Amino acid sequence: MPLAYVGGPPVAVFAGSWLCSKSPIDGTPIALGEPFGDCDPSVARLMSIATSVRLAKQAGARVFVSRELGEDGVDAAFAGGADGVLEELDYEVGRYREGAKFVLFEGRDVAEVVNAVRRTAEEARRPFDVLVAVDLGQVGVFAPYVDGVVLRGGWVEVEVGATEVLPEVGRCVHCGVDYLMYSGALRRCLYCGRRLARVVTSVRPPRSRAVFRSIYRKYASLPKIRLKIV
Ligand SMILES: [Zn+2]
Repeated sequence: MPLAYVGGPPVAVFAGSWLCSKSPIDGTPIALGEPFGDCDPSVARLMSIATSVRLAKQAGARVFVSRELGEDGVDAAFAGGADGVLEELDYEVGRYREGAKFVLFEGRDVAEVVNAVRRTAEEARRPFDVLVAVDLGQVGVFAPYVDGVVLRGGWVEVEVGATEVLPEVGRCVHCGVDYLMYSGALRRCLYCGRRLARVVTSVRPPRSRAVFRSIYRKYASLPKIRLKIV
């Protein structure tokens, strides 16, 4: 069914191309209000995960997720720029273990976590990286004190809705403008003259973490997208 992104933050990250016949490539940001593909509405959950990871990255944190999200959820997290999967790390919860590279802490506030980190370091006398398990809303609070966050909840709400028409969408990354081509057809940006990239496509790059990451990085510095009807 043709879908638009109807509720959520100003920019969401698309994920779930495997549930679509036409869609953006996973990791592509889309603007609130924008029609984006012909997909199963369950892509909303995957977009929620991808968008949450992007928001956490913007707080300056390295972001890890749990395998509990399932294969689709983990792929969506990588489309949002995730740095890794907790269960694939050599880690221990709340205390140091010989050889562990990461120790995962939980705490109500920063003071509780940093004091637990110090006590663990005094016992360990070995280097380790500090992870903290947090909801999205707390990422900004903890990010300055830790090496990475494990995002465990508080996923941002992303709502998708049926739409009548799926127009061609051309994007100028330089200007941050998406042209929704309901009548006209454009190949170049009206403002800067650069060639437009096609947002909605049937192209399917391989479903791999490396590809998800590279698409995320391509767009990481695109803070907002303005829609223009043509
Ligand atoms: Zn332009």
